[in-house]
Amino acid sequence: MSLQGKIIILTAPSGSGKTTLANHLLQTFDRLSFSVSATTRKPRPGEIHGREYYYVSQDDFRRMIREDELFEYQEVYDNQYYGTLMSEIQRIWREGKVALFDIDVKGAQLVEQRGYKNVLTIYVKASSLEVLRKRLTGRGTESEEAIQKRLHRAAEELEYAKYFDYVITNDNLALAKKVVGLIVDDFIYSDIF
Ligand code: 5GP
Repeated sequence: MSLQGKIIILTAPSGSGKTTLANHLLQTFDRLSFSVSATTRKPRPGEIHGREYYYVSQDDFRRMIREDELFEYQEVYDNQYYGTLMSEIQRIWREGKVALFDIDVKGAQLVEQRGYKNVLTIYVKASSLEVLRKRLTGRGTESEEAIQKRLHRAAEELEYAKYFDYVITNDNLALAKKVVGLIVDDFIYSDIF
């Protein structure tokens, strides 16, 4: 990719309030633009193709891998693939904006290993797995089996938190918004004098 812009990676388990924080950032900073990933999972009620994700078939996803259309991808859950589209990053950087990725820990590591310099990584965690379970149950969009999968995954992912530039505990949403806002503000404007 010729023109290299900035990337912010926001990583967190489902139910940690990450989407709320991501939306807060997008509303606060005009220079941020969300990179919409491709996924093979089915849309949840209320989700819209092209807004939360591009929902694609397994065949389409395989084709995207073959044709090098993905910047990174992971099988986040069994048989559920998620990937960052090259075309999204190019669009965002062409607009002179900073790309916001909502991707898992392994995807985040891959991006860093690529040697990109302009990358900020933030890990958002809930104070405990119990809090996470309550949020996931309260959301009511997932089956018990899916909730179990997500909790198991959250426990595994926590191991990777130490590799991130910042780790934010989202116990108090108002505070978490402020903290994440300060970190992002500093990163976005750090090279403008
Ligand atoms: P959900 O199904 O709850 O929307 O997302 C499940 C997980 O997949 C989350 O941890 C989310 O950050 C991750 N994810 C979403 N898009 C991507 C992507 O493009 N690449 C990677 N590696 N992970 C993603």
